[in-house]
Amino acid sequence: MTRLILATRNAGKITELRAILAEAGLPHDLVGADAYPDVPDVVETGVTFAENALLKAHALARATGLPAVADDSGLCVDVMNGAPGIFSARWSGRHGDDRANLDLLLAQLSDIADEHRGAYFACAAALALPDGTERVVEGKLMGVLRREPAGTGGFGYDPVLQPEGETRTCAELTPDEKNAISHRGKAFRELVPVVRELLG
Ligand code: IMP
Repeated sequence: MTRLILATRNAGKITELRAILAEAGLPHDLVGADAYPDVPDVVETGVTFAENALLKAHALARATGLPAVADDSGLCVDVMNGAPGIFSARWSGRHGDDRANLDLLLAQLSDIADEHRGAYFACAAALALPDGTERVVEGKLMGVLRREPAGTGGFGYDPVLQPEGETRTCAELTPDEKNAISHRGKAFRELVPVVRELLG
C-alpha cells in the first residue's frame, strides 16, 4: 500500500480526504504531517492558491520521501477583485484571528448592495512526488455574503458566506452538508483521478 502524506495538522481535513480516497476505492494509507514532526513548516511565498499548495506539497515530499498532498484556500470577494484571497487568514493583520478578519470584511462591504455581494471560497489541492512530479487541481464554492454573521458551525468566514441555492450560511450547515459542496471537498475529489494516474 502506498503511503500518502497530507500537509496539515487539521484532523478534519485528514478525515475528509481519507473518506474521499476510500469511497473511490483507492487503497492509499493517508497520514497527516503530524506523523513527521521534524518537517519544518513552509513559508507561503506564492501569490496564488495553486502556487502555495504546490510549495507545501513539494517541501513535504522532499522532506519525507513520500507522495504529498497540500491544499491552500481562501475567500474571494467579487467587488474586491478577489481579495482577501491568499490573505484570507490574516486579513485583519493577525494570522488566524477569524472573528477580526470577518468583522473587518463586513465593515469594508457595509455600503455594498445585496446584488453586488457575490463571493466564493476557493481551494487548490496539489500532489507532489519526491521526484518532482506535480499536479494541481481546484474547487470553488460560489455564494453571496450576508450583512451579519449567522450560525455557530465551521470556521473562518463560514458565518457570512451563503452558498448559491441555500438559505443558510456555511456555519449553519452540518459538517457533512458543508463537505458535500465545499471548495475543499471538490478539489479533493478532483485529486482522485490524479492519485490514480500517478500512484496507481
Ligand atoms: P487554509 O488554506 O485552510 O489555511 O485557509 C486559509 C483561510 O481561508 C482560513 O483561515 C479562512 O479564513 C479562509 N477559509 C478557507 N476555507 C474556508 C472555509 O471553508 N470556511 C471559512 N473560511 C475558510
